[in-house]
This record gives sequence, structure tokens and C-alpha cells, in this order.
Amino acid sequence: MTNPVDQRRAVPRTDAVLADPRLADPLARLGRSLVKDAVAAAQQGVRTGAVDPGAVVDAVLAALPARASSLQPVLNATGVLLHTNLGRAPLSAAAVDAVVAASGTTDVELDLATGRRARRGREVLAALAAAVPAAEAVHVVNNGAAALVLAATALAAGRDVVVSRGEMVEIGDGFRLHELVTSTGARLREVGTTNRTSARDYARALDADGDRPVGMVLKVHPSNFLVTGFTAAATAGELAPLCRERDVPLVVDTGSGLLAPHPLLPDEPDAGSALAAGADLVTASGDKLLGGPQAGLLLGRADVVERLRRHPLARALRVDKLTLAALEATLRGPRPPALEALAAPAGAVRARAEALARELAARGLDARAVDSTATVGGGGAPGVPLTSAAVSLPGALAARLRAGRPPVLARVEKDRCLLDLRSVPPAQDAALRGAVLAAG
Ligand SMILES: *Cc1c(COP(=O)(O)O)cnc(C)c1O
Repeated sequence: MTNPVDQRRAVPRTDAVLADPRLADPLARLGRSLVKDAVAAAQQGVRTGAVDPGAVVDAVLAALPARASSLQPVLNATGVLLHTNLGRAPLSAAAVDAVVAASGTTDVELDLATGRRARRGREVLAALAAAVPAAEAVHVVNNGAAALVLAATALAAGRDVVVSRGEMVEIGDGFRLHELVTSTGARLREVGTTNRTSARDYARALDADGDRPVGMVLKVHPSNFLVTGFTAAATAGELAPLCRERDVPLVVDTGSGLLAPHPLLPDEPDAGSALAAGADLVTASGDKLLGGPQAGLLLGRADVVERLRRHPLARALRVDKLTLAALEATLRGPRPPALEALAAPAGAVRARAEALARELAARGLDARAVDSTATVGGGGAPGVPLTSAAVSLPGALAARLRAGRPPVLARVEKDRCLLDLRSVPPAQDAALRGAVLAAG
């Protein structure tokens, strides 16, 4: 029987462990704090008998995290192209490269030709303006919600915002857009009903006597639900003349971030069309159907955008250099993964599912290719089915895949684990096969 004193002696000292040459590289890569945590865990293992005193460094090496951040890459086999819980749009390789290049000291606010201060993010703003010729001016903030808050604050704080009762949308996690708007000190002047709102409803609200003037008319795209049946909504084109006559800005929150119409998503609103229809300002997200980083896009009339840009709140909603870099590369570079996934021919997705199912079946797994229906996801286009294909596996695999390295997120239907390949970039097929074989 060992006594406590002997056990303490057997535990190697922290300094001695940290001095082991095998930990030099992890110390440089991960920093002292994370390595020390792993050392402390291994020392505790020695005390409880789980770790052999001679194998402490091996235990530390095995327990070290892959990187200093705990966020890990996850293979998205859910068939939901823009999965909110998985960080929405995956960046293109070009955007990742741009982020890495901008991550050190960079010329984000400096003109290298003159050595003088330059407008922050001038190139990404130019790229955004070039992508939407109907916009006189553009601005970028932290996310879609920030874009809306900035617009409501600058245009309607202490005033009323005219909005349809059918467009009071909850965007997720309990956050509601109309509450976001009222949090700025604006007040709602609700019009219409849940299912039907006409241009006349807006006109009546605009002309009603109120104790406060109207700061803006807001149209919100119901981006995560469908209202069908006996429905009607006023278009931006119908509202624009009403707003113009009364000198009230028309703000359209398109949500999804399409800059131009998308042939596969004919019902999804886009910034260019909304502006062409007469909107004074469009707000949208950067990490939905634009396929870029989290960002809020503001596009519209020069005087309106300038008012927003000069508002003190704009400074608090400013985006960092990493976002600017990723957004510019998304706008100027190759088509981002989410849009590649959207456009992939159904036959090509099916062929990948069959190839993967064949390879897995040859290794003894109960795997077969099946038809599947993918979706765009929380980022837009609710109810638009995307023809897809999946590899069907035993349902019990789903939890093991989620716990793997890399983790794989699948869909479970009728006790089967479905790996929908439309949301998996083809370049990740080999990694997916490896993960399934390791879990199976
Ligand atoms: C997603 C969405 C938002 C919020 O945008 P975030 O970028 O998530 O802040 C606002 N309005 C609409 C219509 C949306 O779809």
C-alpha cells in the first residue's frame, strides 16, 4: 500500500515537465497557460493512479488541444447550407487567405502611396458598391441586426417606425426585430394584419395624426418562415412613391444578403432590386446568401448612408480588419462555398453520395445512397427544397460522428443517420469518409 507522501513524491514537478524538450513546440504554439493546464491534469492523473509517473509528458501531449481556440472545424452534413449553429456561411479559400494576410499589421486605414491616413475599408466598400450599381453609397457594420439598429437610431430615434404586423419577425434565440427597433428609442406604428397588409394601410398610417413624426417606413423580409393562403403584402415599389411624397425614408431589410436576383431563388429579395424599386436604404447580412463573414451591409441613397456613417453609434458597430478582408475577398473572389453548394447539379451530388456509400459498404458498413432534400437554412429561402442526396447509415452513428475528430454533424431521420452531401464541399469528401470509418 502506498502512503500519501510517496504519491506526492511520484508526481513530477511542473517546471520539470515543462522543461521537457517535447513540450517546447507546444509551448511556442499554444502558450504556457494551456500547456500548464494539461500538465496539471496529468499530475492529477498520477495522483489518482490513472497516469504512470514516467508517462506524464505523453499524457500532456495527448491532452493538448489542437489550437489555442476551442472552436473546431465541423463537417456540415446536415443538408442545411447556412447552419446558424455552425457559423452560417463557410468562407472561401480566398477569403480565408485574405483574413490571414490581414491578421497582422495591415494597411486597413493607411494609404501606402502617400503614407497618410486613408478611409477604413475603402476597397471593400468599393467592391460592394461595384456589385450593386443601384446603390449610391454603401457602409458595412457588424451584422444585419447592427445595420438595422444603426438605421433605426439615425433615422427614427424619438420618432415612429411604420411596419407591417406581418413582418414582426423573430430571428432566433428570442431576438425580435421589432424589439431591436424599439430598443433604439423608436416607436412602432403597426399597420395591417398578420397575413395581409396593403399599400393603403401604410398610407393611412403615414397620414395619421401622431404625437411623433414618422422616422422611417420599414419593410422586413420574412426570411425564416412562410405565410401562405390568403395573404398580401405591399412591395417596395408600391411603398416608394408613398414615402417619397411624404419625405420619409423607406428602409428594406432583405436579410439574406443577395445583391442581385438569384436564378435558383426567384422569391428571395435582393439589394439591387429593392433599390431599383425605390428603397432609400437596404440592410442585409454578410454571412447568409452572400456567403461571406458575419457583417451588416447598408446600401442606398448617398445622404441617408452618410447620415448613418456619421452617427456616433456607427463607431460602436464598426467591423474589424478581418471582416473587411473576408468580405472583400467574398465580393471580388471566387464563388463562396455556400453558393457553390446551392448551385451544385443534383446529379453531381448524387454521384458523390453513391461513391461514398460504395466505399463505406465495401468496408463493411451498412451504408447506401438515398434521395434527400437540402435547404438553404436560417439564412434565407424558407421552404425552398433543394434536390440532394445523402449516405444513409445506422442511426447510432450520429452521436459517434458528432464526437469524432473532426466532428461530423448529420441529420437523423427514421432511425437512420443521413449524411447530406449538398452541404459538404466536395473537397471534404475524403475527410468525411475518414470520419465515418473512424466512427463506424
Ligand atoms: C438574419 C436576419 C437579420 C439579422 O441579421 P444578422 O446578420 O443575423 O444580425 C435581420 N433581418 C432579417 C430579415 C434577417 O433575415
